[in-house]
Amino acid sequence: MVIIMLGAPGTGKGTVASLLQKKLEIKQISTGDIFRKNIKEGTELGIIAKEYISEGKLVPDDITIKIIEDRLNESDVQNGAILDGFPRTIKQAEELDRILASKGKKVNKVINLTTPDEEIIERIVNRRICSNQECKKIYNLILNPPKQEGICDKCGSELIKRKDDTEEIVRERLKTYFEQTSPLIQYYEKQGNMLTEIVSKTINRLGIDVAEDVVQILKGEK
Ligand code: AMP
Repeated sequence: MVIIMLGAPGTGKGTVASLLQKKLEIKQISTGDIFRKNIKEGTELGIIAKEYISEGKLVPDDITIKIIEDRLNESDVQNGAILDGFPRTIKQAEELDRILASKGKKVNKVINLTTPDEEIIERIVNRRICSNQECKKIYNLILNPPKQEGICDKCGSELIKRKDDTEEIVRERLKTYFEQTSPLIQYYEKQGNMLTEIVSKTINRLGIDVAEDVVQILKGEK
């Protein structure tokens, strides 16, 4: 099963994807995580990606598509994948359809997460992530703080704030989302496989509840 997590930054794609990964036993693939790993390791890809990410812009399609194509050829994702942060442009979506078709697969479900803009900014500036690559648990200092400041409850590693999680860059990332990524809503609506979920504290729907809901829907229990 191929699942896509769609939604603006900070709507909970990573949180929902990591919960779905556990519950459905299919791998999460995050293009953002792949770029951040490369930045940390100082690879050629990392040096290029950093320029775009630090300005809230998208890494060019040809680079990003190649990364996903290679990742989708690996053995651990042959029974399915949860794509977290890909596609982000119509070109990427078209290429994804092509890559999957060549393997006799298709996008089975698109989960579109929405949250009011102001809530997104508050959520992102308060986001902290476990620095342990095996854990990567996501916290929010207001909605879901760690028990001990700066330390992951789950594995005891240090919590970090992403460099692009500042208000200035978030506003740029939101602009990028509306210009280049939001047209994907229509693209997938036409394919008839979209499920829209509102993630908002004002209606008391956070990532964890949404993930539970989505699992039940995917398992045909709803
Ligand atoms: P994320 O962790 O998904 O919020 O991604 C962090 C940043 O990585 C984004 O703001 C983009 O600069 C870059 N990025 C992640 N996924 C993609 C993609 N599919 N296409 C282009 N850039 C991406």
